[in-house]
Amino acid sequence: MQIVSTIKEVREIVKEWKKQDLSVGYVPTMGYLHEGHASLIKAARKGNEKVVVSIFVNPMQFGPTEDLASYPRDLEKDARLCEAEGVDLIFHPEPEEMYDESFCSFTDINGLSNALCGLSRPIHFRGVCTVLNKFFNIIQPDRAYFGQKDAQQAAIVKQFVKDLNIPVEIIRCPIIREEDGLAKSSRNTYLSQEERQAALCLSKAIFLGQDMVKNGETDAKKVTEAMIGRIKEEPMADIEYVKAVNGLTMQDVSVIKAPTLVAMAVRIGSTRLIDNFVVE
Ligand code: AMP
Repeated sequence: MQIVSTIKEVREIVKEWKKQDLSVGYVPTMGYLHEGHASLIKAARKGNEKVVVSIFVNPMQFGPTEDLASYPRDLEKDARLCEAEGVDLIFHPEPEEMYDESFCSFTDINGLSNALCGLSRPIHFRGVCTVLNKFFNIIQPDRAYFGQKDAQQAAIVKQFVKDLNIPVEIIRCPIIREEDGLAKSSRNTYLSQEERQAALCLSKAIFLGQDMVKNGETDAKKVTEAMIGRIKEEPMADIEYVKAVNGLTMQDVSVIKAPTLVAMAVRIGSTRLIDNFVVE
């Protein structure tokens, strides 16, 4: 496994692979890797001859009051996980490598980003799409792998590669959870022991909503209100949103039917956590 930090090195390595007609799978991450990331890498490993993982805490997708400086980082541990999963190349650029002083071009997406997380994080998806557009151009992967954990992000990426005719197939992978249900996240490390326990209100609400839908409930209001009720049983939880939307357009729906996405963002102390389920 190689670890490189410059665009030039990535281009040279990928050029050699392409000469040999090898397919390239790509997993974008911000590092501090866990089994959620590993599941994407496994899928990429299965579907491609070469696998690239980027590890980059992208400053452009963090708002001024967000956790850019404190975001957890551990390249050595990440490299061990990648090595064990059979990754061929880690691209770990510094911010200056990705954005030089003259940088002024952005990839923006309307509509899908003006809902759910986009409302409280207005510049987030512009930052995500811009950096991914750059990574897609640098790595030129055949396939890129995204977690359903960030459902809105996956939907936005699918839309922008279609709109901009970027020749990459976007593949979504299911949410990986801790044994007790909490969705795995690099941000879970912010939680104190007490908060970690409180954070279970998210997955409990998700499972409740899922059960209601499985048992035939299609009224979005009834489902989201029951989920909100469950979260409110936890005094440490502060709800940002619990919504049922169309999984493609992110517009609110009143009737739950495929492809409805039921998504939430909840603060536990100062940690913002997200979770969701999809009706298929
Ligand atoms: P991040 O490093 O948080 O930017 O995440 C990188 C990728 O890993 C994104 O596509 C996430 O959706 C995905 N991911 C993060 N957590 C999980 C999880 N618990 N299950 C599945 N995918 C995940």
